[in-house]
Amino acid sequence: MTERKVRFDPARKPLTLYVCGVTPYDSGHMGHAFTFSVFDVLVRFLEAGGQRVKYVQNVTDIDDPLFERARRDEIGWRELAERETQVHIRDMTVLGWRPPDAMPRVSDEIKRIVSASSKLHSSGYAYRTDALYFDVSKYRGYGRLSHRTRRSMLRKLRDEGLLGKVGPTAKRDALDFPLWRPSARDEPAWPSKFGEGRPGWHIECSVMAMHYLGEQIDIHGGGRDLQFSHHESERAQSESLSGKKPFARAWMHTGMVRYQGRKMSKSLGNLVKVSQALQRAPAAAVRLYLVSHRYGRDWDFDWQGLARSARLVERMRKFLADDTRAGTRKTPPGPALMAEFNAALADDLDTPRAVRALRAALRQRDAAALRAMKEILVGSAALS
Ligand SMILES: [Zn+2]
Repeated sequence: MTERKVRFDPARKPLTLYVCGVTPYDSGHMGHAFTFSVFDVLVRFLEAGGQRVKYVQNVTDIDDPLFERARRDEIGWRELAERETQVHIRDMTVLGWRPPDAMPRVSDEIKRIVSASSKLHSSGYAYRTDALYFDVSKYRGYGRLSHRTRRSMLRKLRDEGLLGKVGPTAKRDALDFPLWRPSARDEPAWPSKFGEGRPGWHIECSVMAMHYLGEQIDIHGGGRDLQFSHHESERAQSESLSGKKPFARAWMHTGMVRYQGRKMSKSLGNLVKVSQALQRAPAAAVRLYLVSHRYGRDWDFDWQGLARSARLVERMRKFLADDTRAGTRKTPPGPALMAEFNAALADDLDTPRAVRALRAALRQRDAAALRAMKEILVGSAALS
């Protein structure tokens, strides 16, 4: 424990972690599995060191891409959301995660979202035209989280189709974003003092994070594509609601997973599904392959890499089975091996270095160290 670089105090209240979860319309690909496996390593590492963690991961079941997909596939949005949420939970269970302590769904949080929107309106942070908008000019430092200039923010909004209209009956400024908006005819709608409608994307996460974890949280995570505009806006809303800074003490953004040189996406038709990978390798190998990449970097999924992880996992399985069969006297894990492993993860969650420590434990035939490392890196994922 004295080797550990992260500061922790088991007597302290639990560390709070909020991770933006799936928008359940195309769950189950490697990009998702990478993000949630990384945060699982973080949670398991902290808990193994005696730090309690309170982990919340939401389900964004009210959002434009979900409604568009439901429309295209001629399926009810609820049915689509339910099906894809189950795919996500099933995949991550197979990949051995310690489930989040809460997985709130936006559709169950509408009352709280309306009341937060109302508070922002009455305190002057929001204005009402054709929808209720957050007034970005009222928040100092919008853009600082993502280190973007106004021009760069506008470009990303345009690329993502989130720019919207500016004018006397719409937004005052192109960076403003909706807190509450009217629903299209085939979208769900709830009553509110701002008219029948549904929430904007960003306020959903502000409300869930603050309700389940408090006005200020320790770590906020998600894919890097969420840094702007989602997290930038979440931070602005949350700090305007509570009057407390910072909303999150640390932000962790995971890199994008590419395939054949391009970002994995359904529109490009190059998604690799967790279920496809599981046909070729045991769950522990898929998981170990994912976490053998540095969390903040983009990387390329390739089948040879997965095959290498599968060979490593097979050697681990065989060695641990032999060790159990031999019933050798239990010895504590080698302190040097564990020190290196813990130092790696304490150093901004350097999982590739932690995987090298695991390889060293296998080479040195240290079953106790190998078991301890496996527990954190692959969780409860099966070795065969
Ligand atoms: Zn979110």
